[in-house]
Amino acid sequence: KRNVLIIGAGGVAQVVAHKCAQNNAVLGDIHIASRTLAKCHAIIDSVHAKGSMQTKGVLQAHALDALDVEATKFLIRATHSQIVINVGSPFVNMSVLQACIDTGAAYMDTAIHEDPLKVCETPPWYANYEWKRREACKAAGVTAILGIGFDPGVVNAYARYAIDHHFDQVDSIDIIDINAGSHGRYFATNFDPETNFREFTSTVWSWENNAWKANQMFEHRKDWDMPVTGVSTTYLTGHDELHSMSQHLGVPNIRFWMGFGEHYINVFNVLKNLGLLSEQPVRTARGQEVVPLEVVKAVLPDPASLAPAYTGKTCIGDLVKGTKDGQPAEVLIYNVCDHEASYHEVGSQAISYTAGVPPVAAALLIAEGVWDVGGMVNVEELDPAPLIAQMNRMGLVTRIRHAAGDNVLDPVCPVA
Ligand code: NDP
Repeated sequence: KRNVLIIGAGGVAQVVAHKCAQNNAVLGDIHIASRTLAKCHAIIDSVHAKGSMQTKGVLQAHALDALDVEATKFLIRATHSQIVINVGSPFVNMSVLQACIDTGAAYMDTAIHEDPLKVCETPPWYANYEWKRREACKAAGVTAILGIGFDPGVVNAYARYAIDHHFDQVDSIDIIDINAGSHGRYFATNFDPETNFREFTSTVWSWENNAWKANQMFEHRKDWDMPVTGVSTTYLTGHDELHSMSQHLGVPNIRFWMGFGEHYINVFNVLKNLGLLSEQPVRTARGQEVVPLEVVKAVLPDPASLAPAYTGKTCIGDLVKGTKDGQPAEVLIYNVCDHEASYHEVGSQAISYTAGVPPVAAALLIAEGVWDVGGMVNVEELDPAPLIAQMNRMGLVTRIRHAAGDNVLDPVCPVA
C-alpha cells in the first residue's frame, strides 16, 4: 500500500478522493490537504455519504499551504504518503514537485505550472518550469507524471495509442473538447475561473508544420460532427498538451479545439475588453490594489456548485489523420461522459470527473509498478494501453470511430 496525499480540495479533488476511496484496498491511506480545511472535510463527508470507501481505512483532512515546500514535505512524511496527486491550482506545481523530489514520493498533476503574474509564456511551456527538474527527478528516482487529467492527460495517451496501433504515419492530431452540457446559470466556468480565463486571454499557440504558430482567440472556427453531441462548434485554443506532444510525438500538426457557445463568447469578450480578465493589479480610487481577474473569480459561481443541476454530456477526443498501408486513414478516439451520472456517483460534474479519474488510474498503475518509471514523463511517453484499460474499469470508457459517419462506436479494450 502506497498511501496517497491529495493536494487541493476543489472539484477535481472531490473526484480524486472518491476514486481513491473506491480503490483504497490497493492505495491505502488517503489524505486530503488544502488551504481551506473545511473544503477537505466537505469532500470526506461526501465520500462517506456515497459509501465510496472500498474497505475500512484512513481518510483524513489537513490544512496546508502547498507553496510552503517544508510544510508539504512534513505532511508527506507524517502521512507516509508515497503518491502525491496534485490537483491544487497550477501555481503550486513547482513547490509540490520539489517536496516530492526531496521526500521520494511519486508526483502527479493535471496542468502546467503557472506564475500568477505571467500569461502566455514562450512555448513549450513545460520547458519554463517542470522540465527544469527532470534531472533532479532522475537522480532521486522519483516518478513524476505531468499533466495526467483528461486534457492534458488522456488525450496525450490517445495520441500515442493511435500512432502505435492505427497508423504508419500521422500527419495531424486535432484534439476536440466539447461540453454539450447545461448548468442553467447565466455565466460560469467549469473549473477555476482564473485558470480557465488565463487559457484564452492571450496568444493562442498551435503546432503547425512542425513550428509554433501564434493565433488570436476565436480567430479560427471549425464545426465537427462528434459522436453523441452531434455537430459542435469549436474554436482554435491554446492548451497545455500541445507543449509536450509537439516535442515528443514527431507529428507535424497538433491543434486544440474547444467548444464555445455564442453566449459564452459574448460575455467573455465584454469581460476581456473591459480589462476585467487582466492578471495585472489595478489601484481603485480608495487606494486598494486589486487583481481584476481575482475579482471576477470571486463573483462567479464556484464551479463545484454547478454539479447538482448540470445535465448533458461531454465528448472529448483526438481526431488523428495519416496513412496506413499506403492509404489515407483517420480515427477518432474519444470518451463521452454524462454530467448527471458523474454527480450521482461522486457528487461532481463531468469536467471534474474526466479530469479526476485519470490521476487515480495512474496512481493504481504506479502502485502496481506498471507506470512507476522513476523519472519525469509526460503521458504520451508512457504505454497508453494500461491506462485505457484501467479507466475502462473505473467508469471512464474509451471508444473509437474508424471513419467519419461510421456509427460503430467500439470501446477500445487494449490488452494491458
Ligand atoms: P478548484 O479551484 O476548484 O480547486 C483548487 C484547489 O486548490 C482549491 O481547493 C484551493 O484551495 C487549492 N489551493 C490553491 N492554492 C493552494 C495552496 N497554496 N495550498 C493549498 N491548496 C491550494 O480547481 P479544480 O478542482 O477545478 O482544478 C484543479 C486543477 O485541475 C487545476 O490545476 C486545473 O487547471 C486542473 N484541471 C485539469 C483538467 C484536465 O483535464 N487536465 C480539467 C480541469 C481542471 P482553496 O479553495 O482553499 O483556495
